[in-house]
Amino acid sequence: MDALKSSDPDVYAIIRDEEDRQARTIRLIASENYTSRAIMEATGSVLTNKYSEGYPGRRYYEGQEHMDRVENLARDRGKELFGAEHVNVQPYSGSPANLEAYYALCEVGDPILGMGLPFGGHLTHGWKVNFSGRFYDAHHYGVDPDTHLIDFAEVRKIAREVKPKVIFCGGSAYPREIDFDKFGEIAEEVGAHLVADIAHIAGLIAGGQHPSPIEAADVVSSTTHKTLRGPRGGLLMCKKKFAKDIDRAVFPALQGGPHMNTIAGVAIAFKEAMRPEFKTYAADIIENARAMADAFVEKGYTLVSGGTDNHLLLVDVTARGSTGKIASTAMAQAGIVCNANSIPFDPRSPFDPSGIRIGTAAVTTRGMKPAQMRQIVAWTDDAINHADDPARLAAIRAEVDAMCGEFPVP
Ligand code: PLP
Repeated sequence: MDALKSSDPDVYAIIRDEEDRQARTIRLIASENYTSRAIMEATGSVLTNKYSEGYPGRRYYEGQEHMDRVENLARDRGKELFGAEHVNVQPYSGSPANLEAYYALCEVGDPILGMGLPFGGHLTHGWKVNFSGRFYDAHHYGVDPDTHLIDFAEVRKIAREVKPKVIFCGGSAYPREIDFDKFGEIAEEVGAHLVADIAHIAGLIAGGQHPSPIEAADVVSSTTHKTLRGPRGGLLMCKKKFAKDIDRAVFPALQGGPHMNTIAGVAIAFKEAMRPEFKTYAADIIENARAMADAFVEKGYTLVSGGTDNHLLLVDVTARGSTGKIASTAMAQAGIVCNANSIPFDPRSPFDPSGIRIGTAAVTTRGMKPAQMRQIVAWTDDAINHADDPARLAAIRAEVDAMCGEFPVP
């Protein structure tokens, strides 16, 4: 970064500091990961300089011969990786992709049905402060109060009552496998379109560790930067019959020129995800999450749904006299970075909820294994129990730093 260092030392210093922070802390934020150096190079390349409104072969500016190649490559690899009939790699990120899915499948004011935010759904699944809750007649399903599993009886009941045009499934904080076929049956029964938002689990699906929604869903939306380990971006996949509507929703309805540097990075991520090592990576993510879940349970913590089938777990920290905010702040001081998170039926406010959300995609990328997961849980427990003890947190921080040195960031 010599050019940056001399032309803008302020930004250079910030980037170096963040690089250092990322290398010397344990990243447990379930939506984060580390891309390969190859992806970093592509996203920082000259492709950022090119405007490419339209689609391959149908652009509004000249000079697209190489842009068409890279977008076609990304689309073809996406189709192969997920077995999709149609792929659009232009969404700027996960939220725009979801907005585009609604735009393609229903009208403003139509009833929609998604998992409620407090139960693990995403803001874009109809939450009131989001466009999806303002522009549509949004209804929500949740989870069973005892098992914390999606309550399909409730999904069916609400779907029959409100006759949604679109049903969204998938979430940001749901630790169990999602039965896309069951959602597909309900959608068919009530004449709704099914959108599967696989933002969190796309890498697990690509790596063969979670059932795919490609058959059951009309549209599949995703981010590209979580378990899939690509650059920050969005993705829409659909059956051929929805291809035109999806493409038109992305451009010209809701976006302008695609970010071709990101699309190149997405093409690389798809290629990386087709390698046999990625299957192992996806399996390791889950093995690590289970190891953490077991370690928390051994220490007496309660987990939402009792455990995990994927890359994330939700830990209730209130029995320890802590709260999500106090726990996550203490952990961050100890160099272990996660986020406070509501748990189902949480009596506390979303600003200081009862739980923390923990994900293993990033630590698995660094090569950490179940032994390290158990160590991280031990440090986490120590930090939670000594949230008011800066000296103890600093001591954990030093140990975290030492372990991070053994597992370099790609
Ligand atoms: N969908 C789900 C399930 C998510 O978890 C997220 C982000 O966390 C999104 C959509 C939105 O993605 P983005 O933050 O890239 O807009």
